[in-house]
Amino acid sequence: MLRLTERVDLAGYTTLRVGGPAARLVETDTADDLILVVRDADLAGELLLVLGGGSNLVIADEGFDGTVARVASAGVAVRQADDLVRITVAAGENWDRLVEWAVSEKLAGVECLAGIPGLAGATPIQNVGAYGQEVASTITAVRVFDRHLGRELTLTPAQCAFAYRTSVFKVTAGRYVVLDVMFELVREPMSRPIGYAELAGMLGVEVGEQAPLADVRDAVLALRRGKGMVLDPDDPDTASAGSFFTNPVLDQAQLVTLERVASARGIKVPRFAADDGRVKVPAGWLIEQAGFGKGFQGPGGARISTKHTLALTNHDQASAADLIGLARQVAGGVRETFGVELTNEPVLVGLHL
Ligand SMILES: Cc1cc2nc3c(=O)[nH]c(=O)nc-3n(C[C@H](O)[C@H](O)[C@H](O)COP(=O)(O)OP(=O)(O)OC[C@H]3O[C@@H](n4cnc5c(N)ncnc54)[C@H](O)[C@@H]3O)c2cc1C
Repeated sequence: MLRLTERVDLAGYTTLRVGGPAARLVETDTADDLILVVRDADLAGELLLVLGGGSNLVIADEGFDGTVARVASAGVAVRQADDLVRITVAAGENWDRLVEWAVSEKLAGVECLAGIPGLAGATPIQNVGAYGQEVASTITAVRVFDRHLGRELTLTPAQCAFAYRTSVFKVTAGRYVVLDVMFELVREPMSRPIGYAELAGMLGVEVGEQAPLADVRDAVLALRRGKGMVLDPDDPDTASAGSFFTNPVLDQAQLVTLERVASARGIKVPRFAADDGRVKVPAGWLIEQAGFGKGFQGPGGARISTKHTLALTNHDQASAADLIGLARQVAGGVRETFGVELTNEPVLVGLHL
């Protein structure tokens, strides 16, 4: 079924609670309805925004002068082959509830991704990840509507080109509309090997060891709550889009430059190994060292979370302009202090850093 609303304020559809009106918003309950709305908008030459849970979006105060297709499809189909279980999940399914279900069914592979807001169909877009897991390691296929070719396709993981917080879906922004996502999970009561030291410490295991699925989910949720990373209407620190910046991935030459600046300040640069001999430096650390601590007050009602330096929050009636103002201030400070460019993680609509 399709439900159309004209001139609808988008702030109520995003976790940051900013965004002006859309010309029209259409709710789509099935993949076929979603395709219909997308095709119609494309044929009419209208701007189109596919909206999931709105947890990774910053929409301009001026709004969106086009069609917003809100994904509300439902359904999880399960197919079992021995100890591997394949599930096909409609794009509109709530991600956190899917993780909860998988854990209760003793299906391993997504337990570290508990508490991430939004819908299943958005998880491939930025290859959602947390606590050492990312969806790329369990996705076996993504069924999409290709707006360039005007037809449905099923993409293999290689075609999805997953990498750290990105994929073909993010790079070719808007080309593919995700209809459903296929995951392969392992039927066992224990988690996949824990890959994140903080989580392993909380569980009392070593990195690389396993732990009971439900314990892992509980530990992840507890860690996330402590950082304001689980949506909670009573906690203003969660009025965010999660991490506002990705962790910069530096080559050796960039790292040497950064280390020189850091050692002049008497500090040591934390890092994690990334692909091709490069290193990932925590954006939160760079931000904090550049003078923007937890609770830093930006323009208007925009504030850095009091629990997590990477989250920019709508603390008190902030506008999108306030939030972008704070993001620019932070990115500018990090550039001036360390010569490192920060990249926004959420998708900006009608805005730029
Ligand atoms: C408190 C909090 C914590 C978070 N923690 C994490 C975290 O730990 N790890 C992480 O990776 N992310 C995290 N995020 C970011 C966010 O939750 C994820 O990126 C999530 O997958 C976004 O889902 P959504 O349905 O809300 O997408 P939306 O915000 O609605 O959309 C995001 C983008 O995906 C596009 N899109 C959405 N659905 C589709 C579709 N079906 N087809 C094509 N395009 C689509 C939209 O057009 C938009 O460009 C967090 C956010 C918040 C608010």
